[in-house]
Amino acid sequence: MDFSLTPEQIQLRDTVREFAAREVAPHIQEWDAKGEFHPEVLHKMGELGLLGLPIPEAYGGSGFDYVALALACDELEYVDTFLRVVMSVHVGLNSLALLQWGDEEQKQRFLAPQARGEKFGTFALTEPNAGSDAGSIESTYVRDGDAYVLNGAKMWISLAAMADHFLVFASFDRSKKHNGLTAFMLERDMPGLTTGTIKGKLGVRAGNTGELAFNNVRIPLANRIGEEGEGFKIAMSCIDQGRFTVGAGAVGLIRACLDASVKYANERYAFGQEIGRFELVKQMIAKMAANHDASRLLTMQAAELKNRGIRNTRETSLMKWFGCDAALEAANDAIQVHGSYGYSNEYPVERFWRNSRGAVIYEGTREIHTILQADYALGYRQDKPLRCPQPPAEGFEREVDRVPALAL
Ligand SMILES: Cc1cc2nc3c(=O)[nH]c(=O)nc-3n(C[C@H](O)[C@H](O)[C@H](O)COP(=O)(O)OP(=O)(O)OC[C@H]3O[C@@H](n4cnc5c(N)ncnc54)[C@H](O)[C@@H]3O)c2cc1C
Repeated sequence: MDFSLTPEQIQLRDTVREFAAREVAPHIQEWDAKGEFHPEVLHKMGELGLLGLPIPEAYGGSGFDYVALALACDELEYVDTFLRVVMSVHVGLNSLALLQWGDEEQKQRFLAPQARGEKFGTFALTEPNAGSDAGSIESTYVRDGDAYVLNGAKMWISLAAMADHFLVFASFDRSKKHNGLTAFMLERDMPGLTTGTIKGKLGVRAGNTGELAFNNVRIPLANRIGEEGEGFKIAMSCIDQGRFTVGAGAVGLIRACLDASVKYANERYAFGQEIGRFELVKQMIAKMAANHDASRLLTMQAAELKNRGIRNTRETSLMKWFGCDAALEAANDAIQVHGSYGYSNEYPVERFWRNSRGAVIYEGTREIHTILQADYALGYRQDKPLRCPQPPAEGFEREVDRVPALAL
């Protein structure tokens, strides 16, 4: 496996780094403290081509591969998690799902304006009474002539206040559980669709998270994504892509914790020497460095499989689970390295801890990933081929016969 970056990937990484350092880093402590969401930042991400990064040029995207997507998420989350969340929901959970499951008309109508940054997309699976247990969602729809009629509610939906397109999952028969789900693309101006913002979040305070309510929303047949009853498979393949962006972002968050801790450990003196000279402080720094590289390598493994269109559910779950746990540990230790100053928003590490906490819950809780990994190892779980497999990245050939390097 070749870990070197291409000149284009390096240029992209540097562009994203400069953008986040210039547009967001100087303001983020204030935005986070005030809980302010700044949509203009998303428009600037669109102008840079980030919102269509891995989408083929034919659909308005930039045509980069998954290594590039990982680098962008890493650089964005280095500055703040809310930036990476935009990539997770708009690119990972929505646009890449359209690329995989949408028909040509849907790709032109929804995907292309999203990739160009003209429209914003999000993903709505979670409900007040159903999160991990997606087969139990309570939103339901019925067919009525030339449309479907949807009722229900969604909760914890990123970009709810701003999105134009909502990838929503609902059931036509709740007794069928997972097999009763269907995916729809809702549009903001559809009568009966309302959105609200959730206040009082622990982290990602500069981002927007909200609720959706559906009151007899009429959805044209042309807005159904995939077949009826295929919604659960679509949701899980969306999550395969979203998780990848979350795990890749965790690498940047660990790096942010490491950089802040190294700087502080070299500046702070106790007992006549820099605190970095103490063995127990070194232990925390060493763990951050090791977990950074391990998370990055797991990210590159998943990126390689995605580039070549090889099923990667196990490897993506692994990089997301490992990376997010490692980011939370790094942020916790970064506060410890900073002592009481780490407990104050004078330094960024308390924000890193609050932001890292959420990723151990969303896109599969720590417990769900633990079960998944154990089930793969024990042979209780095998992935079946999908009707629409993930397409390889632009410029790559599908290599279905290739065995992942670390296959169990
Ligand atoms: C900041 C943020 C942004 C989010 N953005 C989105 C979004 O854009 N779109 C969206 O659809 N959702 C979003 N979510 C929701 C998120 O995906 C869910 O919260 C998550 O799936 C967990 O569901 P839950 O909160 O209902 O917890 P539950 O599923 O109720 O779980 C509660 C606890 O029980 C454990 N548990 C559940 N089942 C099992 C089991 N089988 N074995 C062992 N333990 C189990 C869980 O691990 C957890 O510890 C977001 C959440 C947050 C915090």
